[in-house]
Amino acid sequence: MDHLKEMEGRDGRIVDRGLILGLADGAAAAAARTTRKTAEITSELNSELTAEIWRAEIAAKAARLAPLLERLSPIERMTKLREEISGRIVFTTSFGLEDQVILHMLVDSGIDVDLVTLDTGRLFPETYELWAATEKRFGRRVRAIYPQQDEIAALVERQGINGFYESRDARASCCHVRKVEPLRRALAGAKAWIAGLRAEQSAGRRDMAVVGADAGYRVIKLNPLFDWGREAVQQFAAAKNVPVNSLHAKGFASVGCAPCTRAIGPSEPERAGRWWWEDEARKECGLHTG
Ligand code: SF4
Repeated sequence: MDHLKEMEGRDGRIVDRGLILGLADGAAAAAARTTRKTAEITSELNSELTAEIWRAEIAAKAARLAPLLERLSPIERMTKLREEISGRIVFTTSFGLEDQVILHMLVDSGIDVDLVTLDTGRLFPETYELWAATEKRFGRRVRAIYPQQDEIAALVERQGINGFYESRDARASCCHVRKVEPLRRALAGAKAWIAGLRAEQSAGRRDMAVVGADAGYRVIKLNPLFDWGREAVQQFAAAKNVPVNSLHAKGFASVGCAPCTRAIGPSEPERAGRWWWEDEARKECGLHTG
């Protein structure tokens, strides 16, 4: 009670062991908190709005480009994309058959794009050999994006060095740290992304398109070989003497990380050798699910 009287006697000021807080100061602090909160909410709304506007813009651009690009050849598709997009275009290669053909087309036609690969740290020695041979052949450096060191350390600590065999979630975590997060950095600030997907490769990929808007990475995504068959890609590579992964000749139709890829039999689908222990319908690493 004495304490309350003391408060009243000091015109609303509280005296407590030498620390004096005024009600006016308290009101000012509350007002500042409200202002901060309002600013935070406004900023969140603005960034959601910006993302929405961006999504609408890029979807409209992809929709406009689709009928134009679909009827063109792969080289013409990439040339047209370069003309239409002002800003960085990234081509991601895993040195697969399709990627090697696309790289040949890009270099041969002088199309200005960033060449990037995601080095997961678990690739086949043959892939590293092809990487070196490719740079030599085309006279271009392919920029490597690596996983974040601390995330790799945490992943291996959590699930072990080969923990991806234990469950689909563990495998998805590994793919996220070694591939998806690095891809996010590779595409940061880019306006478009060129990838080597073909409709024929799997049931899931048949639902994709030559060109579309990738909402996850916020880019226009072009798959220039989308409607090519494997044979046409092989023939192009042979005709142009494009270097290809020596594993293809050993039955590896699709080459990814060494512990997660095996050779396939003659009647198996192209991607049957990737994460062969998993349900066929759900086999993607997360790079192409945006
Ligand atoms: Fe990890 Fe295998 Fe995915 Fe490579 S393919 S990132 S090793 S789970």
